Amino acid sequence: MFLPSLLIICYNLCMQKSNFSFATTKLIAIFLSVCLLSGCTKPAGLTSVTRDDLLGTAITISIYDNVPDRLFAQCFDEIAAIEARMSVNRKDSEISLLNENTGGAFLVSDNIYALLQRAVYFSGVSGGAFDISIGPVMELWRKDGHFETLPSPKEINEKLAYVGYEAITFPGSNMVSMEQGMRLDLGAFAKGHALEVVRDILLENGVRHALLDFGGDIYTIGEKPDGSNWRVAIKTPIVGDNSLVCVIEVSDLCVMTSGGYERYFEQDGIYYHHILNPATGYPAASDLLSVTVISAEITGADALSTAGFVLGLEQGMIMIDKLEGYEAIFITSAKEIYVTAGLKGKTTLLNTGFQLKGN
Ligand code: AMP
Ligand code: MG
Repeated sequence: MFLPSLLIICYNLCMQKSNFSFATTKLIAIFLSVCLLSGCTKPAGLTSVTRDDLLGTAITISIYDNVPDRLFAQCFDEIAAIEARMSVNRKDSEISLLNENTGGAFLVSDNIYALLQRAVYFSGVSGGAFDISIGPVMELWRKDGHFETLPSPKEINEKLAYVGYEAITFPGSNMVSMEQGMRLDLGAFAKGHALEVVRDILLENGVRHALLDFGGDIYTIGEKPDGSNWRVAIKTPIVGDNSLVCVIEVSDLCVMTSGGYERYFEQDGIYYHHILNPATGYPAASDLLSVTVISAEITGADALSTAGFVLGLEQGMIMIDKLEGYEAIFITSAKEIYVTAGLKGKTTLLNTGFQLKGN
């Protein structure tokens, strides 16, 4: 795939970053077609800052307006605060404290209260395919924060008894209650929430053109400085294949992807990935390689991409079609790409090994 590689290289040159690596990003490469036209000069007013010590991924904020440096610091401070509240890898996070205080009502911050209500809403919408109470089973698969351990069927069955979002209730203002032994894991939408918060900070500060890349999950503010849409490419969702599979045009939208190839381990020739089916406790085994959700509602898109991946093509498509403001790209194991109605005609195939269906 010469052309996409060239475009990524152009993009990186334009960003003038030394510590940005597509190998470390999750799955989407972005390119700016403006680079090709302009001979890769740095767009006027562009400032780009990357950090790779937050949310377990590389985060790049690229702003095409003149803004003070403190705006970048404010965004990264906010991401750090979100991580400190939501991470299950930190014993002192609000979610970890909640997990240690199940079996009764527990007082949480406004922020976590609102987020948990949204999570329960998306669990219902997805019929439980997205379920933040996956924690007890997820902890069996994870060691020291790394997804790497194959639990026994007995262990999985024991812990599955504690999974079920219906048992998360809100008995009073800022009160959350769960049954004893339940544990939350917000990994499926923490990044979406952080992206949404940063988007809002930038909009409040008058930013009109920006590209936010949170480990391959993208939000585009406004159009490109030349007035055209951003072109966001999706990586081929296959382990070891770094080519791009298709590209879509967006502005003021996020592009959030979930795929089994993002985090996995191999044991005895079998790949185990990190998106679990809450009904079985095992990695979701649908007919999909990845699901990308496009929306202005970033936290929801993050939850729905995880849910869609668990549900599979048919049920995932039905779920997205029912919801206003969300579009999606489903890539199947048969190497077929399906898009929802709102993306038809806006998706371009880059990889001839795949087929774009019904575009
Ligand atoms: P994402 O990459 O957004 O699809 O999120 C994957 C992460 O969400 C995993 O690493 C787990 O922390 C968590 N997770 C895995 N399976 C589920 C699920 N079915 N529902 C909710 N969270 C999940
Ligand atoms: Mg997600």
